[in-house]
Amino acid sequence: MKKKIDIIENKVKNNERITTDDAIFLYENVPLGKLGSLANFIKNKINGKEVYFNRNIHIEPTNVCLYRCKFCSFSKDENDSLAWNYTHDDIISIVKSHIKDKITEIHITGGVYPNRDITWFTELFVKIKEIFPQIHIKAFTAIELQYLFRISNISLEVGLKKLIEAGLNSLAGGGAEIFDNEIRMKLCPEKGPAEIWLNIHETAHNLGLSSNATMLYGHIENYQHRVMHINELRNLQDKTNGFNAFIPLKFRKQNNFLSYLPEISIIEDLRNFAVARIFLDNIKHIKAYWPMFGKENARLALHFGADDFDGTIYETTKIYSLAGSEEQTPVMSPNEINEIIEQEGFVPVERNSLYEKCL
Ligand code: SF4
Repeated sequence: MKKKIDIIENKVKNNERITTDDAIFLYENVPLGKLGSLANFIKNKINGKEVYFNRNIHIEPTNVCLYRCKFCSFSKDENDSLAWNYTHDDIISIVKSHIKDKITEIHITGGVYPNRDITWFTELFVKIKEIFPQIHIKAFTAIELQYLFRISNISLEVGLKKLIEAGLNSLAGGGAEIFDNEIRMKLCPEKGPAEIWLNIHETAHNLGLSSNATMLYGHIENYQHRVMHINELRNLQDKTNGFNAFIPLKFRKQNNFLSYLPEISIIEDLRNFAVARIFLDNIKHIKAYWPMFGKENARLALHFGADDFDGTIYETTKIYSLAGSEEQTPVMSPNEINEIIEQEGFVPVERNSLYEKCL
């Protein structure tokens, strides 16, 4: 066992790519401290001491969704008392209320909603850009796009081009869940096979649209499934170089069909961050998405490969608070984020959505 750890460590130190077998070995056998030191070595090599964040809000246009993914605490029926469904005017008024916060990004994702075609979104993006020409619109899970293009009777390429023309700047990374199709069928059968997600992101990258990538972990998957997932992402990144960041997303158990499962520990979260950082040698940024597991856990992840603290959020997402996250009203000021990053011994860098430094 010692010999195998040494071999992997040598690969890491000599800039050699580790294999999927190596990654499974890391998950199964290597102590947290050693994983942290290898992940930090790579993080330092790629990003030095810098830890990134931005000023952002989320818009979740509706939580009404046709699908019922087993892990989801967000989706509701149209007539549910907890359902919401924003109009353009509602969204524009949310956007306007954050002009004072000097936000640089609006992240838009929501349920798979039956009565909204592509025109609803292109008109929305045009309205947002009229108020905020410089704002970066990051929007849609691949799953939303698949449905949107289907009901709009439009091809993937043509649909993406229309959205880009209207102001879409990048894709969000959600909907990837776990690529193993057997697990995927158990968790979210309506989403279809992993190839759909991968094909949509590849097509977007080929059109010049970058995106993020996620992995939902800590439910019914095993280490092989996780490694197969990040291997698909690494392979696609080799082809397109279109992913800006990888975001591990932890399964949280409140208010969903999988509430009977225990949640995994913070130790397992940190191990997962570290293995992802070591394995994904071609994705520059690993995000500690603090609304999913709390600011205090996110600050620990900075010592296990994460170099991005996401953003200010300003209480604009409910996805993880509904699932039982520590952060029931997720908001952080830029000062608070700076302070946390500095307290952990890193250098805070305010960035835009493409990781260019904001001066
Ligand atoms: S995860 Fe997304 S697609 Fe699945 S039920 Fe929830 S909102 Fe709908």
